[in-house]
Amino acid sequence: MPADKRHMPQAYSALQVQTPVGRQSEMPELPEVETVKRGLAPAFEGAQILSVDQHRPDLRFAFPEGFVSRLNGRTVSALSRRSKYLLADIDSGDVLVMHLGMSGSFRIENDVSNETPGHFEHPRNRDTKHDHVVFHLKTRDSARARIIYNDPRRFGFMDLIPRMELVDHPLFRDLGLEPLGNDLSGEALARLFRDRKTPLKAALLNQKLIAGLGNIYVCEALWRSGLSPLRPAGTLVTKKGRATQKANLLAENIRETLQDAIKAGGSSLRDHAQTDGTLGYFQHSFAVYGREGDACRTSSCKGTVCRIVQSNRSTFYCPTCQR
Ligand SMILES: [Zn+2]
Repeated sequence: MPADKRHMPQAYSALQVQTPVGRQSEMPELPEVETVKRGLAPAFEGAQILSVDQHRPDLRFAFPEGFVSRLNGRTVSALSRRSKYLLADIDSGDVLVMHLGMSGSFRIENDVSNETPGHFEHPRNRDTKHDHVVFHLKTRDSARARIIYNDPRRFGFMDLIPRMELVDHPLFRDLGLEPLGNDLSGEALARLFRDRKTPLKAALLNQKLIAGLGNIYVCEALWRSGLSPLRPAGTLVTKKGRATQKANLLAENIRETLQDAIKAGGSSLRDHAQTDGTLGYFQHSFAVYGREGDACRTSSCKGTVCRIVQSNRSTFYCPTCQR
């Protein structure tokens, strides 16, 4: 086995996959992962894992030792998400950690539906030769279902980590606050950004401050807030370290931007679940992202959306109304 495929936690630090500048990322963003979680939950939660087919020794990383035997016969007690990781709590005390990488997707097959056609913004692969893991389940309604993980580029991975060790695990110990949780507020941003001179966009993308907030949604939330991606993050904090009004507004807009995307995914999720069992990928409609040269959509603004490069990534914003 090549050295980079060995199961080494330190290799996780190489996880940040850079998207070529100017190209829209095909990597699932946080709202997509959240819709995948919501789509999988009815089949996965409370289900007994009857058997697991593991077709390869590795994806991005090697599967953990005894992957199949540690899951066989076990029950999934809960499915949750932290940043872009899906976490299935197993009644053995392990947590099955799943990451979609660039091209990973799940589909659910049962006795009623086992078709896989679909319609996606970024087409997901449906070639069964890229089906790497199959969970055969008895759901909590005693129905049979299969959850299938497909990943042609194999940047995704799965791991089993004891629940007790999760918070100190290299994948999770440095993650910042959850942008969809109750932790995100203007005051929380003020604590994170105090005295920071780094550009606001870079601070928002720093996973140690806020976890899982991607390039697209940072651009969109900054536009909604009328804030320049270039202003120093510390300018959202008063001298006494409290949140400015702009910090409160930004916190609100981050949450709303993500929730709107989840809602949009939620509606297509239902369509997909009826037709093809494929979960969580949906049409995005963005106000600034990918709209270089187009008119700004802020009412009464006559500006034009422009693209700049920050930390090697595209930033889209309107220099007229984002200050
Ligand atoms: Zn504008």
